[in-house]
Amino acid sequence: VKIGLKQFGEGRKVILTVSEDPKGLDIDVPGITVSSPIEINAEATRTKDTLDINVDMTSAITIECCRCLTQAQLSVAKNFRLDYPISKHETTIDITDDIRQELMLTYPLKPLCKADCKGLCIVCGKNLNKGPCDCKI
Ligand SMILES: [Zn+2]
Ligand SMILES: [Zn+2]
Repeated sequence: VKIGLKQFGEGRKVILTVSEDPKGLDIDVPGITVSSPIEINAEATRTKDTLDINVDMTSAITIECCRCLTQAQLSVAKNFRLDYPISKHETTIDITDDIRQELMLTYPLKPLCKADCKGLCIVCGKNLNKGPCDCKI
């Protein structure tokens, strides 16, 4: 995601809407895949030597539940603010790294398909969300 600086007059606000393909960002981790485009709505304001960007980001991730191992979709949303110092020579600001970092911060540490996931039976391996099994444990 690159922001061209030419469009900014000092103090002027610029609204940016970007839809970023997650494939190019290299943001998947084991058990978590970003499964829909990252929608970015940003409001950027240039002051003398900084670009102040207020970002609203939404996307969806596919997780593998750490208890029952089924896949589930979670939507993620985050609002954050970025400040970039800008020098006279710069014509674009690349915010891709920050987008990547902020998105990865929304990843759950223990991905669950739902908060009360019952997990798998340790004896027969049945997914207990789909009903009880016959094991007596
Ligand atoms: Zn689960
Ligand atoms: Zn069982």
